[in-house]
Amino acid sequence: MTPKTKKLISLDKKYLWHPFTQMKEWEESTPLVIERGKGNYLIDTDGRRYLDGVSSLWVTVHGHRKKEIDSAIKKQLNKIAHTTLLGLGSTPSIELAERLVAVAPRGLDKVFYSDNGSTAVEIALKMAFQYWEQTNKKNRKRKFAAFTGAYHGDTFGSMSVGEIDIFVKKYRPLLFDTFRAPYPYCYRCPVGKEKKDCKTACLEVFENILKDRHEEIAGCVIEPLFEGAAGMIASPPGFLKAVRRLTRKYDVLLIADEVATGFGRTGSMFACDSEGVVPDFLCLAKGLTGGYMPLAATLTTEKVYRAFLGSYDEYKSFFHGHTYTGNPLGCAAAIANLEIFRKENVLERLKGKVALFKTLLEKFESLDHAGEVRHTGLVAGVELVADKNTKEPYPPAQRLGHRVCMEARKYGLIIRPLGDTVVIMPPLSIKETELKKIVNITYDCVKRITL
Ligand code: PMP
Repeated sequence: MTPKTKKLISLDKKYLWHPFTQMKEWEESTPLVIERGKGNYLIDTDGRRYLDGVSSLWVTVHGHRKKEIDSAIKKQLNKIAHTTLLGLGSTPSIELAERLVAVAPRGLDKVFYSDNGSTAVEIALKMAFQYWEQTNKKNRKRKFAAFTGAYHGDTFGSMSVGEIDIFVKKYRPLLFDTFRAPYPYCYRCPVGKEKKDCKTACLEVFENILKDRHEEIAGCVIEPLFEGAAGMIASPPGFLKAVRRLTRKYDVLLIADEVATGFGRTGSMFACDSEGVVPDFLCLAKGLTGGYMPLAATLTTEKVYRAFLGSYDEYKSFFHGHTYTGNPLGCAAAIANLEIFRKENVLERLKGKVALFKTLLEKFESLDHAGEVRHTGLVAGVELVADKNTKEPYPPAQRLGHRVCMEARKYGLIIRPLGDTVVIMPPLSIKETELKKIVNITYDCVKRITL
């Protein structure tokens, strides 16, 4: 370790508090300090290279130091770094909104910017709530429906619709109540069914909630196609479409949280596209700027937007806005990101990689402690279990998932666990040789650590 790295680590431990991190454990560890990136690699302060197997937490789409995004930001910087959207327009925010509407599911015509995934969801919740307040004189639609295992962010509204206990339990007294429907985690069926392809049981529970309580439900939030933080829980084909059909039937606004699934991750531009679903709100962040700038967007329909129009003193405006809303540097990066999708035919070229990934992942099935291997597009989760027959999990204190990921670093790969699910989600720009390397290293590390 170079003296410079040593110094940085000691300053990090002295001054920083890391997110979702037990800092006692961090203080006892020897963390990596990343200094640079190139393509699908991260480079640390000692010059060691690591494949970025988690797209720097879902965000890196076309690799690091992508020429077109680098220069789009520099070009924008030569004009202006920031100007507010409160009372003023700005060129890149307008151009990006037009482009987003063009690629989003048809009918989502209005774009509201913020700067992270939690706020993108929070905004959708507030808009949905206010929509009913302003359109329904006897409004009782003041609650939300969401799914088991959901994760929608760390603000109070997004935590209220989320359900991962270790994240939200401590704050429960401050959260609002949410109707909870089962997400089809078929490996550990939430409604006690056995059949892997049974998708109707969860839907029946969902429909019963809507049937009984739709007059109280403003909106329903879902992570379409798979729940990320819950451990890459992929829902069976048709589930999302059925959720859309039922929310329409019972007049409940559908909020698609595509913070993680958006921008090609599932194989199509948005997860909703793969089932031909048009939600009432589409929440975007993470990959929106190709992994360059913190920017988010909540898209909605003309119908929702119209409910907020009126004279000033009717106070129907959406009284919400962050300081950096629609930041020009972020918008310039996002425009360049979308342009790369178009120019490089990214989604078409992704098909071969997705097929290869699926084949490569099959080898995990033979491992004694790989309970289930879940795969959607360019994301996979390998759930490790103590006993494959009974599906008994490992005791959390053993930190199996964490240990596998730490082992992978020795072989030049950065991956992260979600509990004991080891997650692989490389940038869409990953080369086939790199993808093979990522899967092989992960496989070897799982095998070694679970021996
Ligand atoms: N929704 C989903 C589905 C997410 O995966 C995340 C972040 N992992 C969020 C919302 C929150 O995004 P952020 O961390 O940018 O606030």
